[in-house]
Amino acid sequence: MPFLPPPAARLPSPHRPEIEVVSALAGRLAPALDWNAAAGQARPWVQAVRDKPAPFWAMESLLREFPISSAEGLALMRLAEALLRVPDAETAVALTADQLGKARFDADAGSGGAHRMLANLSTSAIALSKKLLPEADGESGVLKRLGANTVVAATVRAIQLLGRQFVLAPSIGEALHEAAHARRGRAALRFSFDMLGEGARTEADAGRYLAAYAAAIDAIGGGRLAEAPEAADGISIKLSALFSRYEDAQRERVFAELLPRVVQLVERAARANINLAIDAEESDRLELSLDLFDALAARVAREHAGWRGFGLAVQAYQTRAPEAVDEVARIARAHGLRVMVRLVKGAYWDGEVKRAQEQGLAGYPVFTHKHHTDMAYLACAQSLLAQHAVIYPQFATHNAGTIAAILQMARAHGARFEMQRLHGMGEAVYREVMRSAEVPVRVYAPVGEQRDLLAYLVRRLLENGANSSFVHQLADPAVDVDALLASPLHPAPAPSLPLPDALYGWDGTRGRRNSRGADLAVAAERAPLERAVDGTALEPVAEARTGDVDAAMSSLQRGFVRWNATALGERAAALRRAADALQARLPEFCGLLVKEARKTLPDAVSEVREAVDFCRYYAEQAERRLAPQALPGPTGESNELRLHGRGVFVCISPWNFPLAIFAGQVVAALVAGNAVAAKPAEQTPRVAARMVALLHEAGVPGDALALLHGPGETVGAALVAHPRAAGVCFTGSTAVARAIHRSLAARDGAIVPLVAETGGINAMVVDSTALPEQVTDAVVQSAFRSAGQRCSALRLLCVHEGIADGVIAMLSGALRELQVGDPAALATDVGPLIDAEAHAGIARHVARLRREATLVGEAPLPPHAPADALAPVAFEVQRIADVKEEVFGPVLHVVRWSGDAEAVVREVNALGYGLTLGIQTRIDSRAQRLAHAARAGNVYVNRNMIGAVVGVQPFGGEGLSGTGPKAGGPHYLYRFCAEQTVTVNTAAAGGNAALLAGFTSTPAGE
Ligand SMILES: Cc1cc2nc3c(=O)[nH]c(=O)nc-3n(C[C@H](O)[C@H](O)[C@H](O)COP(=O)(O)OP(=O)(O)OC[C@H]3O[C@@H](n4cnc5c(N)ncnc54)[C@H](O)[C@@H]3O)c2cc1C
Repeated sequence: MPFLPPPAARLPSPHRPEIEVVSALAGRLAPALDWNAAAGQARPWVQAVRDKPAPFWAMESLLREFPISSAEGLALMRLAEALLRVPDAETAVALTADQLGKARFDADAGSGGAHRMLANLSTSAIALSKKLLPEADGESGVLKRLGANTVVAATVRAIQLLGRQFVLAPSIGEALHEAAHARRGRAALRFSFDMLGEGARTEADAGRYLAAYAAAIDAIGGGRLAEAPEAADGISIKLSALFSRYEDAQRERVFAELLPRVVQLVERAARANINLAIDAEESDRLELSLDLFDALAARVAREHAGWRGFGLAVQAYQTRAPEAVDEVARIARAHGLRVMVRLVKGAYWDGEVKRAQEQGLAGYPVFTHKHHTDMAYLACAQSLLAQHAVIYPQFATHNAGTIAAILQMARAHGARFEMQRLHGMGEAVYREVMRSAEVPVRVYAPVGEQRDLLAYLVRRLLENGANSSFVHQLADPAVDVDALLASPLHPAPAPSLPLPDALYGWDGTRGRRNSRGADLAVAAERAPLERAVDGTALEPVAEARTGDVDAAMSSLQRGFVRWNATALGERAAALRRAADALQARLPEFCGLLVKEARKTLPDAVSEVREAVDFCRYYAEQAERRLAPQALPGPTGESNELRLHGRGVFVCISPWNFPLAIFAGQVVAALVAGNAVAAKPAEQTPRVAARMVALLHEAGVPGDALALLHGPGETVGAALVAHPRAAGVCFTGSTAVARAIHRSLAARDGAIVPLVAETGGINAMVVDSTALPEQVTDAVVQSAFRSAGQRCSALRLLCVHEGIADGVIAMLSGALRELQVGDPAALATDVGPLIDAEAHAGIARHVARLRREATLVGEAPLPPHAPADALAPVAFEVQRIADVKEEVFGPVLHVVRWSGDAEAVVREVNALGYGLTLGIQTRIDSRAQRLAHAARAGNVYVNRNMIGAVVGVQPFGGEGLSGTGPKAGGPHYLYRFCAEQTVTVNTAAAGGNAALLAGFTSTPAGE
């Protein structure tokens, strides 16, 4: 086993308040930097670039015409991302028509400008293509089709040309040739080559990237020993391309499997004496990347002590950037090395913001003001320059102000350094910089084939097209030069985006507060959860017997009268107190969920969050929707609609969400004024008991909520059949829902509501515009997370035959990388099934599929896997109709389709269920048509299809999947209420005083 450092925290929390971080940076920078002088130096550069704008073929020109904030720019980007990979002509035509149909690419659409030739060229081509293309996906005559194919070919060509702006060459040999050509007359020009591609999803991908990097290093070295890494071309590598599980949670495997691969490349680079830079990726990999860097540095120090070309990139937009720089310097010093550090601002800002919001983190790991990123960049630059004894700084930026500030600080430090830019960007700025200062410049030059350049191309389109981007503003004459070079050294007091807590309108005191998650990649946030899991012991919970049911229902009936009379605001306040208490006890409940319900830690955190959200959401909904409502009517009369509880609601919940579904049902019924008899699943009574206790502590009276833990066939059946049951809320199998329905129907007395949420045979329809990597990620999460024990889980993957072989191969490879094991271990992706009975049933189904279907792939089942663990597995079947029943485990069925996507959805509908549907396509109009055609409660486009968020994706289906209304949606509470209209004849006592006093109709609420 190689060196595995402890996951010690090297860095502070990524979620510190932004103002705190930048105030400290501003304080440090102000004495060291004369911004006015820097801006003064940059002004003539900017002016010169504007006077001599980029040539017509440059990206800047095109993106000035069509910024990504415009429909045209967005269409261009979407086409660029997808069109080149579409294998079949029909789909390529549909995609082109769909995207071009949204935009005005005619001659007047752009914002104008001096060098419009390229824009005009594409404009004419695209305008022509719009005339020829069918109006929408699906309808195309032969003539139109012929024309369309020509236009698609032209659009493909245009996108290839676009790609060539940013990609140096398709192969390393050609790239070296291009580099040599570019260097003529500019000896100080260096290159860092990057072998393009998506992150690896399989070992086969990783092997291909490793070979490509190794061959590239050999080619760059060319058999000769470079004089010095500073003076030679080098290579940039992405660790996510070398290992499909480059994640903090897989730390052990990262060191066992990824590290040796990087070592191979590092040794080659060291032998060739060139720069090897590790690119910076997402913020949740930062600490892990530093750990790897440390381990690699130890090796370099041991075996290549004289090599000065080992390096990595640091992103200034991360709030921990200054500490990351210090940590790199510390590592270099500790190993007696001098390393290269490329300082970038960062390329994944949008993704970082989204992830923090989705996970409900305490803050953003990146700055939210653009000038804060600039400020952090300069502070990091200063720190790198000050530590030049151990660091060779490489400043990667296209921003003229940033460049001038760096030149100024570098002069003060007398440090050696280089500047860097991306191929296809910033050329004009550096042309001007080089006139006044002799600085070495290295160009980051991507190398790759068409298909591999797409993701990279889109990143650059986003970067260049973003309004905040320097390059974009430089090309826009409407942006004043002073504004372009405004000082970044002023901290803004508040973030420019609402914090994740405030996503649903919470202002610190009012509104609905979002539930708080935990960043499991941060040791300090993970530790309390792990301690809680370790410390959780499962105590028995007292079982109710059938004979207890009557007394419990009578007591609840008495409780109902009081609770229903309690003010709505007080009932809502109890839910909010429960939410806060639950949030505060996140670790404790996670521990219980892991131990009792066999949940993995990420699943446990999500589940607690969902329960918190239910409490707050239903509290808010109750106050908004259940308050008495005055209705209009004739004069002399008042009319008011009032809602109140129905009586004792029986809530029966499943083991797969023993906290979230349990709590959701119970608090919805309670806040509407009902008393609740709560029957949890037999497998998970402890979570339920703890939640009931918490609700009592939060102010729900003991006689308004009772836990009745016991078998469904006896206790559950007695509750449903009890004459005092005023309604039933059930989540579980369709078969049990039917039994409950029958039992209710057989009762004498009132007919009461049944809210039933049942299962589904959930499908994902993938067309040939979809990105296989994205499909694979979505499929693996949707089908196998929680061991497939979610009602929303994907059971049936329908993939277009044009890309099926590739998707199936990738899925098979990704399955092999899944970790089955103890749910308490962070590295576990898939824990055991809930019990032996579930295991036996699913194992029987898998055995049948082994005989009758074709195996696509399966995860390895380690020898020490816990009892009841079942390896995630996928089989190819012939027809959609072959999948007849919901299999509640990690088993995926795959079918290929061709022809009409809508027909696929109709076949899925015909299965009779209607819970979730996934759609993967880049044809927006197709996604909408399929969603309309689908009889499914929740449709997810281009993402996974699990993890519905309360109030955001109200959850629940139709047909065999349930009765509705949707949980976590605006119509849910009404089903728990009885309604009453109170009409008062206000003219009864003598006459209509209001009318006589001058009102023409009865004011509402009179
Ligand atoms: C040689 C080279 C290598 C690179 N390698 C990497 C790498 O390994 N990893 C990586 O992630 N990127 C890398 N990049 C990409 C780099 O991050 C971008 O090119 C860079 O951010 C552009 O910065 P700029 O100074 O040219 O532009 P500017 O326009 O001055 O700055 C753009 C930066 O501001 C950020 N920003 C925009 N809006 C906001 C906001 N509201 N709040 C806070 N910040 C905001 C953007 O996300 C971006 O980081 C590399 C770039 C170069 C030139």
